[in-house]
Amino acid sequence: MKGVHGKILLVDLSHHQYQVEELPEEVYRRYLGGYGLGAYYLYKHIPPGSDPLGPDNILGFCPGLLTGTGAGFSGRFAVVGKSPLTGKGLRSNGKYSNGGWGNANAGGIFGPAIKRAGFDAIFFKGQSEKPVYLLITQEGISLEDASFLWGKDTVETEEELMVKHGQRACVASIGPAGENLSLISGIVNDKGRIAARSGLGAVMGSKKLKAICLTANKKIEYADRPKLQELNKYYFARMKYFKSSPLIKAIGTKLDYVAPLMRVSKMGLAAPGSIIPRLMGTMYGNVALGTNMSTIISAQNGDSPVKNYRGVGYVDYPMKKAMKLRAKRLNEFGKKQYGCFSCPLKCGYLLKYDKLPYKDKETHRPEYETTCSFGALILNDDMDLLLQVNEYLNRVGMDSISAGTTVAYVLEGVEDGFFKQEDFICTDYPQGFLPVWGDPTYVLPLLKLMVTRDGIGAKLADGTYHASQHFPGTEAFAIHANGSEMGMHDLRLTKSWGMSFVADPTPGRHTTSNYDLGQLGPPDFYPPLKPKMEKTTDSYRQGEISAWPVKLHQVMESLGLCMFSYFFSDYRMQEMLAAVTGWEMTAEEIFQIGGRIQTTRQMFNAREGAIQHEMTQRAQGSPPQQKGPIAGNAIDIEEMIQGYYAGMGFQPDGVPSAEILQTYGLDAMIPDLAISTGAPTPIVNDYLIQPAQ
Ligand code: SF4
Repeated sequence: MKGVHGKILLVDLSHHQYQVEELPEEVYRRYLGGYGLGAYYLYKHIPPGSDPLGPDNILGFCPGLLTGTGAGFSGRFAVVGKSPLTGKGLRSNGKYSNGGWGNANAGGIFGPAIKRAGFDAIFFKGQSEKPVYLLITQEGISLEDASFLWGKDTVETEEELMVKHGQRACVASIGPAGENLSLISGIVNDKGRIAARSGLGAVMGSKKLKAICLTANKKIEYADRPKLQELNKYYFARMKYFKSSPLIKAIGTKLDYVAPLMRVSKMGLAAPGSIIPRLMGTMYGNVALGTNMSTIISAQNGDSPVKNYRGVGYVDYPMKKAMKLRAKRLNEFGKKQYGCFSCPLKCGYLLKYDKLPYKDKETHRPEYETTCSFGALILNDDMDLLLQVNEYLNRVGMDSISAGTTVAYVLEGVEDGFFKQEDFICTDYPQGFLPVWGDPTYVLPLLKLMVTRDGIGAKLADGTYHASQHFPGTEAFAIHANGSEMGMHDLRLTKSWGMSFVADPTPGRHTTSNYDLGQLGPPDFYPPLKPKMEKTTDSYRQGEISAWPVKLHQVMESLGLCMFSYFFSDYRMQEMLAAVTGWEMTAEEIFQIGGRIQTTRQMFNAREGAIQHEMTQRAQGSPPQQKGPIAGNAIDIEEMIQGYYAGMGFQPDGVPSAEILQTYGLDAMIPDLAISTGAPTPIVNDYLIQPAQ
């Protein structure tokens, strides 16, 4: 086998043992790597109905198949597991579920380090009694005592492990949020890249796995290294051309004027020619703007949810507020531009901010998602708070989208009289405190309660859906999709977000594909699979067409590509695969792999009874807003979902059909269709679906 190691590592934390499993080439040909390989493995090995926080859940770290090869944008890895956050409770199909498919994604240099450790993926099962970390060096594999790290934040953990195992050690770890089993906790690498979504930090915490530390340096043989180098050279040169485009540069430097124009013209992120996402590569001075380039645009055109989905951007969060958190301003504190491994865009920027209460005073420039969650969503325009929160959440290992949405839920609860000052009595505030919209004073104290589960924090630590189960009457403003807080793109402006927020096996994700992303990507991203993305306003048809970019997206994820690669053209996927593995695949075969991966993820949820279309009414435009760019928009996403299911070969209830399973060679799953549509899945030790106290 070329291009892969052909083996994965399975660590049994209950017995402190590990085994190396060899995988046949066929598995890679069918699932590639990344979460495709994860979906294959988890479907096979997690017993249906398992407690996500119990020993039977499996947590996987899966770099993409191209990760580490030097291919542009390919440095990413997926974390996979059964999610303790999503798909829980009594479902509309009358079944109980205690969790659905979960995945999260991160960049940096940790993904390639897994490959260099000698494995195509690392999986963990069981639960350790004491905190441990996995160490893989050139000499061997061991589980080490992590008692001295337990309670430390992710930056401290990484630094201590680097002192112990050398400065070249690559580390992924959980912070106090994961240790305390917050269902909105994530896993952090490179001192601030976070696989944030699906609550997988809690899964790692439940296994008492504090960290993974990798120092090994094993090589993979490629089928045609010179060809791979030639392809990479071509692509990087092409990206240089895009980055220096005078048009993009001109727009990038005039963002302050573009934003109001986009509002007036009611233009969403799906602006012609992928201009908006391409702006993130715009150099401002010597630094790329990154995702934060959309902060002022999105706050104006209705893309950013404002004041917990109740506000209107230009009224409640006008330009002068958004401008205080824009990339241009944050860049004033810039120290060093950086990117994920083998990224030609390099959208990251390390900042040095003297007011941070940490020794090195450093933080990564907040991404758009964080800036909106702790900006427009809670009406904050205080940059100091944004940077403090950004670094705090990275260190404690908590998802900023979910945390910000939970803060917004609390602020509305305070405004409506659900929460009172005495509800916030805690160790640090014996008299309690009262957080209110736009006031930065108590945001960090509130987050600290959530991380430590102190006082009311115990009920807020698991995000909005679970909080609303504790506080009856608050459901209407607990914003979520199938249990997960949603990415910061308001579906009342771009309804196809709504479809993917609930119909993708991992709900709430802003990095899944859908109709608008399909429209948005230039058709020549991958010419052999040029999409037939006709423009239509018919919801069913939009959903049906979405199956195309969704399948392509599965391939990209499983190759380890950053989704931003989609907005630049001529990614020679087929030739790269051939140069790395030697496989001469047709474009149709690659497309087929995408369908198989999505169907496997969907079958995971089908078998768990976790397919659902639940989303807070307000987020769907019920009642509709009275003014602003999304005034009057009420979204019925069900029709779009039905179109999407038909396009994917799923039945109207979302369960894949026997025919489509056969098409993808997934015949072995056919008996599981009986579980998907039959008797309720037994509940295993799930405290969270007990009635509210
Ligand atoms: S565009 Fe940004 S997030 Fe994507 S791979 Fe490059 S540096 Fe990483």
